[in-house]
Amino acid sequence: MHARRLRSLPPYLFAEIDEKKAQKKKEGADIIDLSVGDPDLPTPPHVIEALYEAAKDPRNHRYPSYEGLLAFREAVAEWYKRRKGVTLDPETEVLTLIGSKEGIAHAAFAFLDAGDVALVPDPAYPVYKNATVLADAVPHELPLTEENEFEPSLSEIDVDIAKKAKLLFLNYPNNPTAAGASKEFFKEVVDFAKDYGVIVMHDNPYSEITFDDYKAMSFLAADGAFEVGVEFNTLSKTYNMTGWRIGYVVGNADVLKGIREIKTNVDSGVFQAVQLAAVAALKGPQDVIERNVRTYKERRDALIKGLRDAGIKAKTPKATFYVWARVPESYSSLEFATLLLERTAVVVTPGIGFGAHGDGYVRFALTTTVERIKEACERIKSTLDA
Ligand SMILES: *Cc1c(COP(=O)(O)O)cnc(C)c1O
Repeated sequence: MHARRLRSLPPYLFAEIDEKKAQKKKEGADIIDLSVGDPDLPTPPHVIEALYEAAKDPRNHRYPSYEGLLAFREAVAEWYKRRKGVTLDPETEVLTLIGSKEGIAHAAFAFLDAGDVALVPDPAYPVYKNATVLADAVPHELPLTEENEFEPSLSEIDVDIAKKAKLLFLNYPNNPTAAGASKEFFKEVVDFAKDYGVIVMHDNPYSEITFDDYKAMSFLAADGAFEVGVEFNTLSKTYNMTGWRIGYVVGNADVLKGIREIKTNVDSGVFQAVQLAAVAALKGPQDVIERNVRTYKERRDALIKGLRDAGIKAKTPKATFYVWARVPESYSSLEFATLLLERTAVVVTPGIGFGAHGDGYVRFALTTTVERIKEACERIKSTLDA
């Protein structure tokens, strides 16, 4: 009944974990879920107020424009100037999205024909690979390993593959590995993209979740980046607005045109009241960002300490709300996640779910309180000590 393309998607590896979690819940277990990549902190009140006001205005009840309100695109441009030092033309270099996931998936359809190659990091946010497959194109995996500091070794890509590749997906600060990219790496990416005529799709949803002295650079701040690519960003993680479904893509105007053309045929934009609430988020008080960072940092420190006490190796991340931890030897990531769930009712994401090179790791999300994180670590410690 279903199209072949649905069967061509990689198998959903969390089915077993989902089932076990549901089973545990039914048994009344006290589950601590550290698998959720979704902020538990609320959207700031002034944003909710702006939505309420905008929702009352009948002008906002009609279809929005495809590219999004100019007021929203101007707010994005101002924000990029202020926070990232990047100058954008709001008319041609900003496009509103229904969350960045939507834009990333549609970008595959705008640039990939059947059989084309897209370069996709492994492990990675699954949308890059799955959108490529849905577009009947071929993902070529770029391993992210501890040895390469979770940055793909571009010089090791087979020249024939590089020549065939149309897209390169990247994501820094990175989900799931929590790695940041260096300025040098972005420069290398620009050179590679120019040499091989590849379009760079940089995904930057964690751009404001950075710790200590670390600041995440926009890919567009690299010399020549506008010539070769775009950057996806979103209000989801920065302003605790995952449910609101608003993001955007910025950068190369021709690339944006391609994404826009696909979108005009499949969706009709973002509710204007949501766009106006997003303007309030981008232009209003920014203390939510600092508060988020402070909260995630406390949780990060509690988790890292607790994991080390339990004998689990994890590097202290300088960005994102994830911790990428090595599983004890002799376990696969799926076996270890299953063990934790069965014995401790702690839910983590097995690395294999992000790609073959994710095996050997599990991802902890810092989207629950310090108390619960400590409790989770104590349970893990007593199980592993036993
Ligand atoms: C959360 C996340 C997204 C999705 O963001 P939305 O704007 O809510 O669609 C995209 N990419 C990565 C890597 C993410 O972790």
